[in-house]
Amino acid sequence: MSNRRVLGIETEYGISALGEPAGEELHPMQLSNHVVKAYGSMTGREPGWDYESETPLRDIRGYEVSREQAHPDQLTDSDLGMANIVLTNGARLYVDHAHPEYSGPEVTSARAVVAYDRAGDLVMAIAGQEAARRLGRPVRLYKNNTDGKGVSYGTHENYLLDRRTPFDRIIRQFSPFLVTRQVFTGAGRVGIGQNSETPGFQLGQRADFFEAEVGLETTLNRPIINTRDEPHADAGRYRRLHVITGDANLSEISTYLKVGTAALALHVIEAGRLEDDLRLAHPVPAMQQVSRDLECSRVLAMADGRQLTAVDVQEAYLLACRKWVGEQEPGSDGTSEEMIIEWQDILERWQRVLDTLRTDPMLLADQLDWVAKLKLLQSYRDRDDLGWDSAKLSLIDLQYADVDPRRSLYSALVARGKMRRLVDDDQIAAARTDPPTDTRAYFRGRVMEKFGSAVVAASWDSVILDIPGWPALQRIPLLDPLRGTSAQVKELLDNSDTVADLFEALGH
Ligand code: ATP
Ligand code: MG
Ligand code: MG
Repeated sequence: MSNRRVLGIETEYGISALGEPAGEELHPMQLSNHVVKAYGSMTGREPGWDYESETPLRDIRGYEVSREQAHPDQLTDSDLGMANIVLTNGARLYVDHAHPEYSGPEVTSARAVVAYDRAGDLVMAIAGQEAARRLGRPVRLYKNNTDGKGVSYGTHENYLLDRRTPFDRIIRQFSPFLVTRQVFTGAGRVGIGQNSETPGFQLGQRADFFEAEVGLETTLNRPIINTRDEPHADAGRYRRLHVITGDANLSEISTYLKVGTAALALHVIEAGRLEDDLRLAHPVPAMQQVSRDLECSRVLAMADGRQLTAVDVQEAYLLACRKWVGEQEPGSDGTSEEMIIEWQDILERWQRVLDTLRTDPMLLADQLDWVAKLKLLQSYRDRDDLGWDSAKLSLIDLQYADVDPRRSLYSALVARGKMRRLVDDDQIAAARTDPPTDTRAYFRGRVMEKFGSAVVAASWDSVILDIPGWPALQRIPLLDPLRGTSAQVKELLDNSDTVADLFEALGH
């Protein structure tokens, strides 16, 4: 498989309406629906998402099933008529598990993941504000992963893998990576235990919600390695690895390292080049142990009897990745100069972060979410002499993640020059409207922008058009995530005046 790895992040945002008039409270699912619809109405187009390609075409538009008609357990949010729309940047915006969710477009670099992930925050900020205006009540959206009272919602990373990679190797070799990476991917959390029953602070938002090593579930008995197998691509060639352990990050550097290092580790694992046996003796308890170790210095029991810290384990992956990158040549296996430059940058930053975690994690307050948050909380604790059970600290935790830049404590740190960045506001604004150029998301996004009114539905691997005057709806398959790029279809799109021209120019 090509070294150009396709990847994307989806995030369910926390939601609440404050001060709702008594008797008129909205269910979080309805509120989320208002948020998604508010954004759709601003773009002027609300085509549906073809959430299962098997859906009969005539049902795609308004697929509404009442609770009486189907067994409630089998109902999805889409069945209940929840909004589900496609954006001109190639992303999907919808309601999932009663949360508004932004699923970023497919990209091929860690830096692009950052731009499109931050674009999702901007989409939510705009959508929340518009929904509040329409509803006449404040709507708050948070980029976090738990309400601190027992509920957790996800941020999923998706990595395209070669179908030939044995899955048991992924389980063995990738699970220790996911457990130990919390030292730089954690978003920080006030409260320990699913219900925050023990006062304290931990690195990860999600650590307390993982109960199994391997499994299919994503909302119950959550596994470190999720076996969901929906490639949204040619299933004979590819697998989409669905990573559910990660935190939603505000810090651009945390996001960049989160996906950049994982994508590299997967290259090494797929190439069969991870020589060190890094299996943990007890992966699930280790997830919690790493999350609660603010000094990042406690040792973990390895399956082979060694005692290593999370930083040691990460360093072992880093070594293997450095070796692998050193062997890649521009021009072979789909590798480009830019890919090598990004890999080198990821390796250097990864090394510096691990070195600093060994000396003093607090020195990373300008780069990592959990450290930035801890430093902020410490300043309040020192000033007001607060214990970890103080409600004020939980509020600061929440406010760090508010997507509204006027209220977000993360944004306040950025404004004061206290957080390092990787992309600028103009790049984020562009990523909100323009698709990536190097995947099929380019085609999807451009078709939405130019011929949006003709799109009746889209999914990751197809777009369905209603061409004026044509008797039947037409499906354009997009099974290969690396086809439909700007180099391949820009001219064709630019030169098509009508959607019929486009369809014919595509050779249909
Ligand atoms: P759920 O929300 O129930 O977990 P899901 O994982 O199928 O559903 P979506 O919300 O539809 O996901 O988002 C899919 C994500 O996967 C997007 O971020 C998209 O960019 C990415 N993606 C789509 N196809 C591929 C692929 N073939 N390989 C890697 N990533 C992909
Ligand atoms: Mg999703
Ligand atoms: Mg998912």
